[in-house]
Amino acid sequence: MTSTPDPSALLASLDLRALAALSERVDLPALLGAASRLNDRQLGQLTRMLSGQHDDHSTLPAPDGDFLGQLGTLGPDERQTAADVRAFMETRVAPIMNEYWNRDEFPRQLIPELRRLDLLRRIWNEDGTRTPNATVLEGLITLEACRVDVSTAVFFGVHAGLAFASVALGGSDEQKAEWLPKMLDLDVIGAFGLTEPEGGSQVSQGMRTTCRRDGDRWILRGQKKWIGNSTFSDFTVIWARDVDSGEVRGFIVRAGTPGYSVEKIQGKTALRIVENGLITLDDCAVPDSDRLQNVQGWRTTAEVLKLTRAGVAWQGVGCAMGAYELALAYAQTREQFGKRIGEFQLIQNHLVHMLGNVTGMLALCLRLSHLADAGDMRDEHAALAKVVTAARCRETVALARETFGGNGILLEYGVAKHFADTEAIYSYEGTNEINTLVVGRAITGLSAFV
Ligand SMILES: Cc1cc2nc3c(=O)[nH]c(=O)nc-3n(C[C@H](O)[C@H](O)[C@H](O)COP(=O)(O)OP(=O)(O)OC[C@H]3O[C@@H](n4cnc5c(N)ncnc54)[C@H](O)[C@@H]3O)c2cc1C
Repeated sequence: MTSTPDPSALLASLDLRALAALSERVDLPALLGAASRLNDRQLGQLTRMLSGQHDDHSTLPAPDGDFLGQLGTLGPDERQTAADVRAFMETRVAPIMNEYWNRDEFPRQLIPELRRLDLLRRIWNEDGTRTPNATVLEGLITLEACRVDVSTAVFFGVHAGLAFASVALGGSDEQKAEWLPKMLDLDVIGAFGLTEPEGGSQVSQGMRTTCRRDGDRWILRGQKKWIGNSTFSDFTVIWARDVDSGEVRGFIVRAGTPGYSVEKIQGKTALRIVENGLITLDDCAVPDSDRLQNVQGWRTTAEVLKLTRAGVAWQGVGCAMGAYELALAYAQTREQFGKRIGEFQLIQNHLVHMLGNVTGMLALCLRLSHLADAGDMRDEHAALAKVVTAARCRETVALARETFGGNGILLEYGVAKHFADTEAIYSYEGTNEINTLVVGRAITGLSAFV
């Protein structure tokens, strides 16, 4: 609080020579006349400007989405991983992400830089087993990536999660030895082809892509839609139904195989930096040695998805945290009606609501990951986390975007990308409806799937 100064003391303290010099440059009587007509709010604003408070944001708290310091309770390797990814995202990805968003393209030059970070070996061992705190580390990598750019996390999640887990869980020892070390070093990039043009939710029951044994090879026919990384991946894991046994099988289909073609999906309004492909398998012949030998039908596919669903839950946390921090920084500086908008009660209500969401989501995902690393995570646990974080993320980014007014839909302010990307998080790796049905079935003991 500033106290009202004593006018006679103020006059006595005036430096008349400095005042005379000033009056040569400024019309002081006019200025004093204008000041006398200011109302209390305008006077307060002028006082803050003259005392330098107006432009000094250094005294305001720095935006920090981890309000309860939950990340600070983690182990040194976990905090180091989070710090490594944060530095990478802020220095290497943030400066180029809007350009690549506009180009609808993944910046492939990031792959060698990511290789140097050596993130996969923090999660996976060469034999396809997981490190002791793999799910927590994977969650932190995802959070820190999504805080800046969800697409980068999706590139990583498709390769290091979906594709890697498919080979780790479904491959023979020989297949693991052939592929996993190269995948750990990002020397080969994988993709994961499950969803089809006719639908993703029903794919466990209505998979239309088929495989047919033909001597020592398999003939694949069908289409796969939305397949992330597939426009440049070295191989894609293709899931197909055996026309003879009806069983689901997995195949490593190498780029360039005759009968295998990829068309980049154009015109996305979310995750534009991720390259998604529409794959066509037109009598594509794959040697039996590239069939994932230990796949136990759909059960293996479901195991892969269970493992990666926790990662998608973390995407919601990171995306919401990034949006909240951007909104808070904006509210601390943007002025309307002579005040920073962060001084308005309604804007503070938005910010506190966002922070509450982020804090709750973070606690939920940390618990989920600890359960997973202890081997106690069930399908419905991951499904609940995905349902909750996707919905809370959607609410949070909408409030953040609203805080930016019109600037909230401009790419250069950052929050618009989070706002758009949330829509993809909401729908992939099991839509909110499907994950809700998984949890509903678990808690009631009654299936509502139709
Ligand atoms: C950006 C992006 C990246 C992706 N990357 C990949 C990838 O790399 N690999 C891959 O295989 N797939 C990928 N997908 C596909 C994704 O997993 C599917 O989009 C998702 O499973 C939903 O399938 P769908 O889009 O066909 O929607 P649909 O299954 O057609 O669903 C449409 C609507 O109907 C609802 N619905 C469906 N069935 C039921 C039911 N029984 N009860 C109630 N509601 C129901 C759904 O919840 C949804 O609201 C990606 C998708 C996107 C958008």
